[in-house]
Amino acid sequence: MDHDNIRVAVCGAAGRMGREVIRAVMEADGMHLVAAVDRHEIGADVGELAQDGKLNIRIESDLHAVLERSEPHVLVDFTVPDAVMLNARTALTHGVSPVIGTTGLSAKDLKEIDRKANEKGIGAFVAPNFAIGAVLMMQFAAQAARYLPDVEIIELHHEKKLDSPSGTALLTAQKIAEARREAQIVPQPQPSGLIEKAKGARGARGAETGDIPIHSVRLPGFVAHQEVIFGGPGQILTLRHDSTDRRSFMPGVILAIRKVRSLNGLVVGLENLL
Ligand code: NAP
Repeated sequence: MDHDNIRVAVCGAAGRMGREVIRAVMEADGMHLVAAVDRHEIGADVGELAQDGKLNIRIESDLHAVLERSEPHVLVDFTVPDAVMLNARTALTHGVSPVIGTTGLSAKDLKEIDRKANEKGIGAFVAPNFAIGAVLMMQFAAQAARYLPDVEIIELHHEKKLDSPSGTALLTAQKIAEARREAQIVPQPQPSGLIEKAKGARGARGAETGDIPIHSVRLPGFVAHQEVIFGGPGQILTLRHDSTDRRSFMPGVILAIRKVRSLNGLVVGLENLL
């Protein structure tokens, strides 16, 4: 396997993350961009879109045709929740390893990606968050939950984010719930007679959140931020991570591009590549 010349295609190339990925791939050693796909800006030069000078690679719309022609090793996907599975299936059918940052994939979707990658004998990678600081926040949260079981999550993102709660918040909640189970720690029961005067005021909470309340804020000005707040008698512990620039995700994306072809089946979470 030629690890020094990884052929990379980017899906969602005209989007906020896609443009950043184009820049990062162009600057990274041992890989080069071979194709770019999106639903708009068709025909635009991706180098110019990413404000990095002309690249002579144009945005195209037909992923299947692009993969046939450009034969990438890796497809990086930062698109939208309702497109990502179709893109992943198309990549895997062509024997191309997907590196997926798009959030909103279900457990069933992840199982299917794993099965298809195994059938093809290739690797696939999904990370709800590619920023190292966010990965550390999740690990610290799981650690803290063993001692401070009462916790709520507030995640804050830009107003254009489609899915809520964020993939990072859901993964954090799952890790906390797992840590609580392992340590056999039970959080305080909710008091009886609660009155929610406006629906959702106490956050979203259910099986998929490990019964941990998650509050989603969507406002212009934010990029990607999260607070995990633990409360105990007489004390509060707050873990907070802020991605103030989309560059924060790029070292993780480049690492995943480098490593995905050596994986067997699907790996989820950047912590498993570090
Ligand atoms: P964005 O700016 O809306 O970009 C998404 C791009 O993908 C848009 O240009 C969109 O076109 C295009 N697209 C949609 N469907 C497509 C398809 N079938 N084929 C090709 N392109 C398609 O969104 P973003 O802010 O870059 O975020 C993208 C995703 O990454 C979101 O799910 C977000 O939550 C996630 N994200 C993950 C991380 C992480 O670390 N894992 C970090 C940041 C963001 P239209 O505008 O026409 O839909």
